Amino acid sequence: MDRQLSEIFIHTENLAFSYKDEEGKIESPALRGISVDIREGEYVAVLGHNGSGKSTFAKLLNLILEPTEGRLVVDGFDLTDHELTDEEVLALRRKVGMVFQNPDNQLVATIVEEDVAFGPENLGVPMPELRERVDRAIETVGMTEYAQHEPHRLSGGQKQRVAIAGVIAMLPKCIIFDESTAMLDPGGRREVLDTIRMLNREQGITVLNITHYMDEAALADRVIVINDGELLMDGTPDEVFAQRDKLQSVGLEVPQCAELVHSLRESGFAIEGEALSTVEGCEEMLFSAIEKIVG
Ligand code: ADP
Ligand code: MG
Repeated sequence: MDRQLSEIFIHTENLAFSYKDEEGKIESPALRGISVDIREGEYVAVLGHNGSGKSTFAKLLNLILEPTEGRLVVDGFDLTDHELTDEEVLALRRKVGMVFQNPDNQLVATIVEEDVAFGPENLGVPMPELRERVDRAIETVGMTEYAQHEPHRLSGGQKQRVAIAGVIAMLPKCIIFDESTAMLDPGGRREVLDTIRMLNREQGITVLNITHYMDEAALADRVIVINDGELLMDGTPDEVFAQRDKLQSVGLEVPQCAELVHSLRESGFAIEGEALSTVEGCEEMLFSAIEKIVG
């Protein structure tokens, strides 16, 4: 394997999936022709309106669903060229963890640390390694003082951090967040986003964050837009948010700061630059434009 390919963590070629209806009849594809490469350590946001196929994509990467067509390679391991054994499926699930939308559906135990231990325990991780992994995972998400608490009494953001600890105790290389902040209040959302960012930046974990919040997408290295089961856009946040009309045509908005720059440009203001994804970037572009006007 050449160096370039070995850096790619997820590789898909024409990946497709069709659900079956109640009578077992194959429906039209929920996902089709998806070809992407996601690098190890990358932070990728996945956008798309409801029903566009984002969760289906996530479930394929985690082998909750099996592709109907195409090629899927994860961490150099082709998951589509042979019938997978149970061991192979488990090994993959350990590498690619998932955190879902509803924190209450993910908590299984009555004490935080037991909840975090559930996954690695099922993998057969022995003591004292289990203890160490659980303690470290709880510490990583900043929940050490709650280790003995009852999960159902925690805030939404804290519950999601416990769910994340349960995933990282299995030492994954990649974590997929499927709208994991959608049910949280702004404070909880911030907590979870800070945790995601830290896992990516400090621990090198590859992150796929499926979200419908544009400000979350702006935090990623790269944004992928799925529409109607197909890959519509793929680029940096700045590149993607430069295409406001295309995004709007599939029911998505750009971040508010980008919207402001776009509408000022439409009204004839010359604003140079491409830094559309962050408030700081837009601010700088606006300042330079104003400086030019006032001389
Ligand atoms: P998203 O996560 O972007 O909202 P999904 O991947 O959940 O989209 O859904 C993509 C398409 O597949 C939708 O048309 C949805 O109705 C359909 N779908 C999702 N889950 C199932 C299922 N279990 N059975 C049949 N169709 C499904
Ligand atoms: Mg979904």
